[in-house]
Amino acid sequence: MTANFTLLGSGGWIPTARRETTCAILSLPDALFIFDAGTGLSRLLEERFRPEYEAAREVHLFLSHYHLDHIAGLVYLPAMFKGRTVHLHAPAAQITGEDPREIISNIIRKPYNPQALDDLPLDLIIEPLAEGEHAIGGASVQVRKQIHADPSVAFRVNDWLVFATDTADDPGTATFARGARLLVHEAWIDGIEEQDPATEQIAREAYVAHTSARQAAARAAEAEVDELVLCHLNPLRGDAYHERMLASAREIFPGTRILEDGETVVL
Ligand SMILES: [Zn+2]
Ligand SMILES: [Zn+2]
Repeated sequence: MTANFTLLGSGGWIPTARRETTCAILSLPDALFIFDAGTGLSRLLEERFRPEYEAAREVHLFLSHYHLDHIAGLVYLPAMFKGRTVHLHAPAAQITGEDPREIISNIIRKPYNPQALDDLPLDLIIEPLAEGEHAIGGASVQVRKQIHADPSVAFRVNDWLVFATDTADDPGTATFARGARLLVHEAWIDGIEEQDPATEQIAREAYVAHTSARQAAARAAEAEVDELVLCHLNPLRGDAYHERMLASAREIFPGTRILEDGETVVL
């Protein structure tokens, strides 16, 4: 059995013409999984993805955390899923200290959005997701708390995919991802900054909430995954910097890739 993973938004923080903010889909036989609802969710409207969401029997949207670059697309959902049911799995209060339904109904309401959560033209069912393993959409979904500016979670789907964004470098990620086919991990800086006194401060600030490409590659190697995709790329850095990040990561873990928005990996 195969599953298609498509990164719809490969950037973090600020969308650019090339890289929308974080969103990815995993097409399973029984369900469509969506990871994060950044501005990249808008790419689902491209004609080529129409069968992915129209044919899906169940739609499950997983939120890693509530930073706006990961939830801006929640208000796009009626464009794709009007009249349908979408299960929104958000980190449980035990993880974030906040009730997911309260948070989301406070965002999807006037004057931020013309309709309140309960008035949306789709059935958005909010399901708090605790740490541990869950059976969702015919798959095993594991959830693990990460270290970020505000708490975030990583997801593992069967042995296919680990989606770990908005996290500081974390030894637990390697254990969590052990033997997975694909690790999708954030990379905010290259990591070369550590070696240079002039840019050392950048590394120190970044590492409070984020990971370098080198660190992500080291976790991928430790976890013995087949492939690593770097995501949540820094919009303030140009393409040349991102290429350098990729080269740095490949020195440590050769099976590293950077995807364009809309690019698919067959699992
Ligand atoms: Zn982010
Ligand atoms: Zn964040």
